[in-house]
Amino acid sequence: MPHRVWKHECPDCEGKSKTLGVERCPDCGTLGEFDGWGCTGIEMMGRYQRVTGLPPIGPHRKHLPPLTLRCYDCQGRGMVDVNHGERYRYCPSCMGTGLFLIRTPEEMEEIRCQAQEIIRRAREENDGGG
Ligand SMILES: [Zn+2]
Ligand SMILES: [Zn+2]
Repeated sequence: MPHRVWKHECPDCEGKSKTLGVERCPDCGTLGEFDGWGCTGIEMMGRYQRVTGLPPIGPHRKHLPPLTLRCYDCQGRGMVDVNHGERYRYCPSCMGTGLFLIRTPEEMEEIRCQAQEIIRRAREENDGGG
C-alpha cells in the first residue's frame, strides 16, 4: 500500500538525504520533511512488470535498452498528494504506474523475445555448474 514518506537530511548522512516511512528518524531522532506518498520497492517492481511485461530483476536488465521513462508529474511515484499529504490519488498522467513505456508495441515484442532469450541462456549457464 502507498504510505507517507519523509525526507531526512540527517547530520550523519553528510548532505545526502534519505527517504523514510516515518517522520522521526530512528537513527538520530530528527524530524524529516514531509515528502508526499511513496511505495515500497516491491510495488515499484510490480509496476515495471505491469508496464513492460518483463521481470523487474534478472540478467536481461543490463542488456536491454531503456524501455521506460519516469513520469514527470508524480516523479515516478504513481501517485500525487491531495491537500499536502492528507490523501493521495493515482497519478492521472501515468495511470498510477509512475512509468511510461517509450517503445512501440512492435519494439516491445522484439525486446521481450530478446529478454527471454537472455534469461534462458543465463539459466542454462547456471544449470551447467558455472
Ligand atoms: Zn537520522
Ligand atoms: Zn505519474
